[in-house]
Amino acid sequence: MTKLDILPQAQDAKPEVITICQVGTPMAIVDGVSFSAGDVFTNYGGNQTIQTERLFYPTTLQDLQVIIREARNDKKKVRCVGSGHSWSSTAATPDYQVSVNGMNKIHAPAPLMDGSGWTVKLETGVLVSELDAFLRAHKPPLALPSNVVPDVVRFGGILSMGCHGANLNARTMSDMITEMSIVNARGELVTYSEAKDPEAFNAACLNLGLLGIIYTATLKVEAMNTRLRVTDSYPTLDSQFKGADAGLRLKAMVLQNDSTEFLYWPFRHFMKPEQNDSIWLKQWVRTTEPAEDLTKYEGLPPMVDNPFFSTLQVGSRVMETPDALHFPIGDGVTTVVDAGVAFKVDNDFKNACEAVNELVEKNWAFTTSKPERMGTAIEFRFIKASNKMLSPAYDKDPEAIYCMINVMAASATPGFKEYSEGIVSNWIQKYNAKPHWPKMWESVPGVYPYLRREYADRLYRFNRVRKSQDPSGMFINDTWRPLFQENEA
Ligand SMILES: Cc1cc2nc3c(=O)[nH]c(=O)nc-3n(C[C@H](O)[C@H](O)[C@H](O)COP(=O)(O)OP(=O)(O)OC[C@H]3O[C@@H](n4cnc5c(N)ncnc54)[C@H](O)[C@@H]3O)c2cc1C
Repeated sequence: MTKLDILPQAQDAKPEVITICQVGTPMAIVDGVSFSAGDVFTNYGGNQTIQTERLFYPTTLQDLQVIIREARNDKKKVRCVGSGHSWSSTAATPDYQVSVNGMNKIHAPAPLMDGSGWTVKLETGVLVSELDAFLRAHKPPLALPSNVVPDVVRFGGILSMGCHGANLNARTMSDMITEMSIVNARGELVTYSEAKDPEAFNAACLNLGLLGIIYTATLKVEAMNTRLRVTDSYPTLDSQFKGADAGLRLKAMVLQNDSTEFLYWPFRHFMKPEQNDSIWLKQWVRTTEPAEDLTKYEGLPPMVDNPFFSTLQVGSRVMETPDALHFPIGDGVTTVVDAGVAFKVDNDFKNACEAVNELVEKNWAFTTSKPERMGTAIEFRFIKASNKMLSPAYDKDPEAIYCMINVMAASATPGFKEYSEGIVSNWIQKYNAKPHWPKMWESVPGVYPYLRREYADRLYRFNRVRKSQDPSGMFINDTWRPLFQENEA
């Protein structure tokens, strides 16, 4: 029996309300679960806006089950939202949106029997920064071996979308999962593990939010008994990507590093129309040296006069893992939009060099075509393949290396959507690239038929698991319908 109380004010609201929503009506409660009605959801990049009928704020498993029951009774779709940092419309629904931010418990880590590390179980509203701090305070200190750059996003978002860092051997965040529990469309809590059902577990690890509301994830973490030496340099583009052996040099560097990442902005000096002939290079290697006191680097004058990248400093420092993986970029004001893909790197890395050289030129042409287009950038990293069936870096060969490449611009840059669609189309044609799901890709011409062809049997396999958990398509929104339900009766 549903009991609906309309509260005069929002004082009973859960403490953390996502700030990306403008509250439509006062908070209400259904069976102990707070929700507001008519909120306008806008994502971080500002390129997705939608009014939702209800935005729920659960804090317990029972709350999730109430929401599912309400959605089933009211015949509504359900999509979760974490920090709203995805650029695709994956978190959007006009029906029932669920803010998972109040689902933020972290359980005590457990050592693995075989001594190969530890696991930690967490609810999916946990912020990356919260888990980092929790693991660092543990005795012994623990850490994830790789992570996304920002620490303000949440695990439900980064795991369900197959996000990644730069660590070559750590692959994607979804590859770190050892167990997952998800509340399905019947309100049942289903636990997924390799031992229980490898096929369903594979689907759950990168599920796009399509198997239900993820309640917990258990991740493999490591004892933080090494640090990372982070070396930043600013070499010329030509020295990295031009010449007959450029690919092999790049390959050698990527293989010898723990992680490698490049950042590029088109103007050498801010607001001056001189093309940048250098590229920022970050390299991480493991070390047993002690971490440095990072406060001694505070307040250094910027080496780069582009305000978005002004925190970058050439040099080499030893840092604890989380400090090394999350480096600050941005000016604190400007948000960005981003289109990115994964493509398989040739054995000689020639296609990676070609892609970079071509993108630098295309980006220069776009950026200089109008003054309002000057805030663009390019970023790319390399990771080994994922075995998760819906990963854009999926490969049967675990040693295959994928380039995760992005083109980005300040939010609302005129023409960026069309420009980035052309870039992604080109990567698809030339390199058989697959869009990284949280980035901009839905309006790339022909992308859905292409993805249906490319993911083919893996889509079919995923759909089998999905339909067993969500026969009526409660968790399908407009992002995913063309991929999973297009030709269904
Ligand atoms: C500045 C910036 C830097 C970035 N850097 C990286 C990077 O280094 N590497 C990388 O791979 N990506 C990166 N991204 C992309 C980002 O990691 C993803 O968009 C990620 O999904 C964001 O997490 P979120 O908490 O904002 O999730 P949201 O965008 O809020 O949600 C993402 C998806 O997860 C689903 N979801 C969330 N919680 C649950 C749950 N409990 N159950 C079911 N579904 C759920 C949502 O429905 C949605 O489909 C970056 C994004 C930005 C804005």
